[in-house]
Amino acid sequence: MRLDRLISNFPEYSHRSARQLIACGRVQVNGQTVRDTQATVDRFAAVSIDAQPLRGGYASIYLMLHKPTGYLSATSDDTHPTVLDLVSPELHPRLHIGGRLDRNSSGLLLLTNDGLWSRRVTEPRIKTPKVYHVTTAMPIRDDDIIRFAEGIHFVFEDLTTSPAQLERLGGCKAQVTIYEGRYHQIKRMFHAVGNRVTALHRISMGSILLDPTLQPGEYRSLTQAEVASV
Ligand code: URA
Repeated sequence: MRLDRLISNFPEYSHRSARQLIACGRVQVNGQTVRDTQATVDRFAAVSIDAQPLRGGYASIYLMLHKPTGYLSATSDDTHPTVLDLVSPELHPRLHIGGRLDRNSSGLLLLTNDGLWSRRVTEPRIKTPKVYHVTTAMPIRDDDIIRFAEGIHFVFEDLTTSPAQLERLGGCKAQVTIYEGRYHQIKRMFHAVGNRVTALHRISMGSILLDPTLQPGEYRSLTQAEVASV
Protein backbone atom coordinates (compact mmCIF):
# COMPACT_ATOMS: atom_id res chain seq x y z
CA MET A 1 0.00 0.00 0.00
CA ARG A 2 1.06 3.65 -0.40
CA LEU A 3 3.28 4.71 2.50
CA ASP A 4 1.59 8.12 2.86
CA ARG A 5 -1.79 6.43 3.07
CA LEU A 6 -0.60 3.92 5.62
CA ILE A 7 0.62 6.79 7.84
CA SER A 8 -2.51 8.91 7.37
CA ASN A 9 -4.55 5.92 8.46
CA PHE A 10 -3.46 6.86 11.98
CA PRO A 11 -5.73 9.51 13.45
CA GLU A 12 -2.89 11.85 14.44
CA TYR A 13 -1.63 12.23 10.83
CA SER A 14 -3.40 13.83 7.90
CA HIS A 15 -2.54 12.82 4.36
CA ARG A 16 -0.67 16.13 3.94
CA SER A 17 1.35 15.80 7.14
CA ALA A 18 2.24 12.21 6.19
CA ARG A 19 3.69 13.39 2.87
CA GLN A 20 5.63 16.17 4.61
CA LEU A 21 7.12 13.73 7.12
CA ILE A 22 8.24 11.45 4.29
CA ALA A 23 9.69 14.31 2.22
CA CYS A 24 11.63 15.57 5.27
CA GLY A 25 13.29 12.18 5.74
CA ARG A 26 11.61 11.51 9.08
CA VAL A 27 10.03 8.19 8.05
CA GLN A 28 11.82 4.84 8.16
CA VAL A 29 10.56 1.60 6.63
CA ASN A 30 12.20 -1.55 7.96
CA GLY A 31 14.99 0.65 9.34
CA GLN A 32 15.68 2.53 6.06
CA THR A 33 14.75 6.19 5.57
CA VAL A 34 12.27 6.65 2.72
CA ARG A 35 11.90 10.12 1.15
CA ASP A 36 9.76 9.16 -1.83
CA THR A 37 6.22 10.38 -1.17
CA GLN A 38 4.94 7.93 -3.82
CA ALA A 39 6.61 4.93 -2.16
CA THR A 40 4.58 1.77 -1.60
CA VAL A 41 5.19 -0.65 1.27
CA ASP A 42 4.03 -4.03 2.38
CA ARG A 43 1.17 -3.56 4.84
CA PHE A 44 3.13 -5.49 7.49
CA ALA A 45 6.28 -3.38 7.08
CA ALA A 46 7.78 -1.86 10.24
CA VAL A 47 7.19 1.88 9.78
CA SER A 48 8.73 4.41 12.18
CA ILE A 49 8.57 8.19 12.44
CA ASP A 50 11.65 9.78 13.99
CA ALA A 51 12.65 6.20 14.89
CA GLN A 52 9.43 5.70 16.92
CA PRO A 53 7.46 2.66 15.68
CA LEU A 54 4.23 3.91 14.17
CA ARG A 55 2.23 1.02 15.50
CA GLY A 56 3.45 1.41 19.08
CA GLY A 57 0.24 1.48 21.12
CA TYR A 58 -1.90 1.25 17.99
CA ALA A 59 -1.74 -2.37 16.98
CA SER A 60 -3.93 -3.06 13.99
CA ILE A 61 -7.00 -5.07 14.92
CA TYR A 62 -8.91 -7.25 12.47
CA LEU A 63 -11.76 -9.33 13.86
CA MET A 64 -14.51 -11.53 12.48
CA LEU A 65 -17.65 -11.69 14.58
CA HIS A 66 -20.53 -14.11 14.20
CA LYS A 67 -23.24 -11.47 14.54
CA PRO A 68 -26.41 -12.74 16.16
CA THR A 69 -29.78 -11.23 15.22
CA GLY A 70 -30.96 -8.44 17.51
CA TYR A 71 -27.69 -6.48 17.57
CA LEU A 72 -27.18 -3.19 15.74
CA SER A 73 -24.20 -2.79 13.43
CA ALA A 74 -23.19 0.41 15.20
CA THR A 75 -20.64 1.38 17.80
CA SER A 76 -23.20 2.89 20.20
CA ASP A 77 -26.96 3.19 20.50
CA ASP A 78 -29.31 4.39 23.23
CA THR A 79 -31.96 1.74 22.62
CA HIS A 80 -30.53 -1.48 21.21
CA PRO A 81 -27.47 -3.58 22.02
CA THR A 82 -24.71 -3.08 19.47
CA VAL A 83 -22.16 -5.51 18.10
CA LEU A 84 -19.47 -3.76 20.18
CA ASP A 85 -21.25 -5.05 23.29
CA LEU A 86 -20.06 -8.50 22.16
CA VAL A 87 -16.40 -7.46 21.96
CA SER A 88 -13.94 -7.08 24.81
CA PRO A 89 -14.04 -3.39 25.96
CA GLU A 90 -10.27 -2.89 25.69
CA LEU A 91 -10.61 -3.45 21.93
CA HIS A 92 -13.33 -0.78 21.54
CA PRO A 93 -11.20 2.32 20.91
CA ARG A 94 -11.36 3.18 17.21
CA LEU A 95 -12.97 -0.13 16.18
CA HIS A 96 -15.39 0.30 13.34
CA ILE A 97 -17.46 -2.01 11.16
CA GLY A 98 -16.42 -3.07 7.67
CA GLY A 99 -19.79 -3.69 5.99
CA ARG A 100 -22.90 -3.52 8.13
CA LEU A 101 -25.66 -6.07 8.62
CA ASP A 102 -29.24 -5.15 9.51
CA ARG A 103 -30.33 -5.69 13.12
CA ASN A 104 -32.32 -8.80 12.22
CA SER A 105 -29.56 -10.23 9.96
CA SER A 106 -26.84 -12.55 11.25
CA GLY A 107 -23.48 -13.89 10.18
CA LEU A 108 -20.06 -12.59 9.20
CA LEU A 109 -19.21 -9.09 10.40
CA LEU A 110 -15.73 -7.60 10.15
CA LEU A 111 -14.45 -5.18 12.78
CA THR A 112 -11.18 -3.29 12.49
CA ASN A 113 -9.31 -0.12 13.38
CA ASP A 114 -7.76 0.01 9.88
CA GLY A 115 -9.83 2.44 7.84
CA LEU A 116 -8.06 1.79 4.55
CA TRP A 117 -8.54 -1.95 4.88
CA SER A 118 -12.26 -1.69 5.65
CA ARG A 119 -12.69 0.74 2.78
CA ARG A 120 -11.29 -1.87 0.41
CA VAL A 121 -13.86 -4.40 1.70
CA THR A 122 -16.79 -2.04 1.22
CA GLU A 123 -15.75 0.10 -1.77
CA PRO A 124 -18.34 -0.68 -4.49
CA ARG A 125 -15.76 -0.20 -7.28
CA ILE A 126 -13.71 -3.13 -5.90
CA LYS A 127 -16.79 -5.40 -6.18
CA THR A 128 -16.00 -7.70 -3.26
CA PRO A 129 -18.48 -10.61 -3.47
CA LYS A 130 -20.67 -10.94 -0.38
CA VAL A 131 -22.51 -14.22 -0.02
CA TYR A 132 -25.72 -14.66 1.99
CA HIS A 133 -28.05 -17.48 2.88
CA VAL A 134 -31.60 -16.26 2.62
CA THR A 135 -34.96 -17.66 3.71
CA THR A 136 -38.00 -16.17 2.01
CA ALA A 137 -41.72 -16.18 2.68
CA MET A 138 -42.53 -17.73 -0.71
CA PRO A 139 -40.64 -20.18 -2.95
CA ILE A 140 -38.03 -18.70 -5.29
CA ARG A 141 -39.01 -18.75 -8.97
CA ASP A 142 -36.92 -19.16 -12.14
CA ASP A 143 -37.85 -15.64 -13.12
CA ASP A 144 -36.35 -14.25 -9.88
CA ILE A 145 -32.96 -15.72 -10.83
CA ILE A 146 -33.10 -13.87 -14.14
CA ARG A 147 -34.24 -10.61 -12.53
CA PHE A 148 -31.38 -10.72 -9.99
CA ALA A 149 -28.86 -11.41 -12.78
CA GLU A 150 -30.19 -8.49 -14.84
CA GLY A 151 -30.09 -6.10 -11.86
CA ILE A 152 -33.06 -4.72 -9.96
CA HIS A 153 -34.11 -1.09 -10.35
CA PHE A 154 -34.44 0.77 -7.04
CA VAL A 155 -36.90 3.58 -7.71
CA PHE A 156 -35.97 5.68 -4.67
CA GLU A 157 -32.31 6.08 -5.67
CA ASP A 158 -33.08 5.57 -9.39
CA LEU A 159 -30.32 3.01 -9.76
CA THR A 160 -30.05 -0.56 -10.93
CA THR A 161 -28.18 -3.05 -8.77
CA SER A 162 -25.14 -4.84 -10.21
CA PRO A 163 -25.84 -8.33 -11.53
CA ALA A 164 -26.31 -10.68 -8.57
CA GLN A 165 -26.36 -14.47 -8.44
CA LEU A 166 -29.39 -16.13 -6.94
CA GLU A 167 -29.09 -19.88 -6.41
CA ARG A 168 -31.94 -21.99 -5.10
CA LEU A 169 -31.12 -24.17 -2.11
CA GLY A 170 -34.59 -25.71 -2.09
CA GLY A 171 -38.07 -24.34 -1.37
CA CYS A 172 -37.82 -20.98 0.32
CA LYS A 173 -34.04 -21.08 0.78
CA ALA A 174 -31.43 -19.52 -1.48
CA GLN A 175 -27.87 -18.32 -1.69
CA VAL A 176 -27.38 -14.77 -2.97
CA THR A 177 -24.11 -13.16 -4.04
CA ILE A 178 -24.00 -9.38 -4.32
CA TYR A 179 -21.06 -7.11 -5.14
CA GLU A 180 -22.18 -3.90 -3.44
CA GLY A 181 -23.82 -3.11 -0.12
CA ARG A 182 -26.78 -0.81 -0.54
CA TYR A 183 -29.27 -0.08 2.22
CA HIS A 184 -31.37 -3.23 2.89
CA GLN A 185 -30.20 -4.39 -0.52
CA ILE A 186 -31.21 -8.05 -0.46
CA LYS A 187 -34.53 -7.42 1.27
CA ARG A 188 -35.38 -4.76 -1.30
CA MET A 189 -34.36 -7.03 -4.19
CA PHE A 190 -36.72 -9.75 -2.98
CA HIS A 191 -39.43 -7.17 -2.33
CA ALA A 192 -39.05 -6.02 -5.95
CA VAL A 193 -39.83 -9.55 -7.18
CA GLY A 194 -42.87 -9.85 -4.91
CA ASN A 195 -41.26 -11.94 -2.16
CA ARG A 196 -40.15 -11.21 1.42
CA VAL A 197 -36.96 -12.11 3.31
CA THR A 198 -37.64 -13.81 6.63
CA ALA A 199 -34.01 -14.60 7.55
CA LEU A 200 -30.68 -13.35 6.21
CA HIS A 201 -27.26 -14.72 7.16
CA ARG A 202 -23.92 -13.61 5.65
CA ILE A 203 -21.45 -16.43 5.11
CA SER A 204 -18.55 -14.66 3.36
CA MET A 205 -17.01 -11.40 2.21
CA GLY A 206 -14.42 -11.88 -0.53
CA SER A 207 -12.40 -14.92 0.45
CA ILE A 208 -13.05 -14.44 4.19
CA LEU A 209 -15.52 -17.11 5.29
CA LEU A 210 -17.46 -17.07 8.56
CA ASP A 211 -15.58 -19.53 10.77
CA PRO A 212 -18.03 -22.42 11.40
CA THR A 213 -16.58 -22.92 14.91
CA LEU A 214 -17.78 -19.44 15.98
CA GLN A 215 -21.11 -19.53 17.79
CA PRO A 216 -23.43 -16.50 17.44
CA GLY A 217 -21.86 -13.68 19.48
CA GLU A 218 -18.33 -15.12 19.34
CA TYR A 219 -15.40 -13.55 17.49
CA ARG A 220 -11.78 -14.20 16.65
CA SER A 221 -8.85 -12.34 15.11
CA LEU A 222 -8.40 -12.71 11.38
CA THR A 223 -5.37 -14.70 10.28
CA GLN A 224 -2.62 -12.86 8.44
CA ALA A 225 -3.73 -14.60 5.23
CA GLU A 226 -7.33 -13.39 5.73
CA VAL A 227 -6.16 -9.81 6.31
CA ALA A 228 -3.91 -9.96 3.25
CA SER A 229 -6.71 -11.36 1.06
CA VAL A 230 -8.48 -7.99 1.00
N1 URA B 1 -29.03 -6.92 2.56
C1 URA B 1 -30.01 -6.67 3.46
O1 URA B 1 -31.15 -6.44 3.09
N2 URA B 1 -29.69 -6.70 4.76
C2 URA B 1 -28.45 -6.98 5.23
O2 URA B 1 -28.22 -7.02 6.45
C3 URA B 1 -27.45 -7.24 4.29
C4 URA B 1 -27.76 -7.19 2.94
